[in-house]
Amino acid sequence: MVIAIDGPGGVGKSTVTRRLAKALGVDFLDTGATYRAATVAALDSGVDLADEAAVLAAVRAREIAYEDGVILLDGVSIAAETRSEAVTKAVSPVSALPTVREHIVQIQRDWVAERGDSAVVEGRDIGTVVFPDAPVKVFLTASAEIRAARRAGDAEAANLQVSEIVADLNRRDHADSTREASPLRPADDAVEIDTGAMDIEEVVAAVLDLVSAARRQAICEDS
Ligand code: C5P
Repeated sequence: MVIAIDGPGGVGKSTVTRRLAKALGVDFLDTGATYRAATVAALDSGVDLADEAAVLAAVRAREIAYEDGVILLDGVSIAAETRSEAVTKAVSPVSALPTVREHIVQIQRDWVAERGDSAVVEGRDIGTVVFPDAPVKVFLTASAEIRAARRAGDAEAANLQVSEIVADLNRRDHADSTREASPLRPADDAVEIDTGAMDIEEVVAAVLDLVSAARRQAICEDS
């Protein structure tokens, strides 16, 4: 089954997703990495990021793949590049472009189909748009301060000031939740988990409970 994990940046989606996938013995897809790869393609080509047709052409010209937790552009890992400040700044405008989203969502759906429709998929619109029929949908939340403090603990963010991290998270939250195409929001049938006072193990255990309940329900519906 598809397990959809959505929520804003810094909420712990990636860690929770990786642990869940390991516990369930399935692959995981970080859809943020696919939008970051599209952003690398757009920045490489030097097009105006407001020119939707040009950005789409630049993205379509490159092959975006995700293998074993690593994002690839034309077969080469761009894991480090996707985390750069330039990409982090440009990713929200690029991912607000509807036709770019359509292209990237198709890549995400194909990736999951190749895995027999069984995966943990994390992002912003997985439960609402990419897999609206996912039997388990989770929306993780935590205050901006808690999320920034968690980010500050990440090695990649270690050289940034916490205030800069808060500002970046707030800017992206605002852009992601107010855009017209697939805004960041919980699906009506998503289970919201406030992770502020929970550790990773508790969050993973809560989602595994939901997976067990969904499995029991699927068995009941089959019989
Ligand atoms: O998860 P991550 O912080 O890497 O996501 C980077 C950006 O990609 C987000 O701020 C958002 O603009 C975009 N994104 C999106 N839809 C998703 C996942 C990420 O628009 N499903």
